[in-house]
Amino acid sequence: MSTPGPVPGAKHNPAMTIFEKIARREIPADIVYEEEDFLVIRDINPQAPVHVLMFPKKVIPRVGEAEAADAGVLGRMLAASGAIARKLGVYESGYRLVINHGPDAGETVPHLHIHLLGKRSFAWPPG
Ligand code: AMP
Repeated sequence: MSTPGPVPGAKHNPAMTIFEKIARREIPADIVYEEEDFLVIRDINPQAPVHVLMFPKKVIPRVGEAEAADAGVLGRMLAASGAIARKLGVYESGYRLVINHGPDAGETVPHLHIHLLGKRSFAWPPG
């Protein structure tokens, strides 16, 4: 884990996403892990006994809009998922990573995030 803290840069912007506000410590969240460029928080409406969200502090609206310059943070989040799963006690039992892009997928927050879910079994194909 490295430098925690708010994202440097823009002044208060009411159009900020909920996750930007969390990254800037303007609204509270249960933070379970932090790196310089991404955060992991507990989902406020968990769909499994373990349900956390990994998101970059910089807004990438959705995965399909990610650019080559975003590859670093996206890769670091995926690479950290094993350590986070261990910390949350689901590495051995298994966990699922989910990214929702757009309405059919159920995206509700326009700020790219990876759901990490575990401590129950999940159907395949997904519902
Ligand atoms: P998605 O539907 O993929 O866009 O996921 C958005 C997720 O963000 C949902 O699972 C919500 O429960 C979660 N969420 C929304 N607001 C908050 C919040 N303030 N703190 C934690 N999780 C949140």
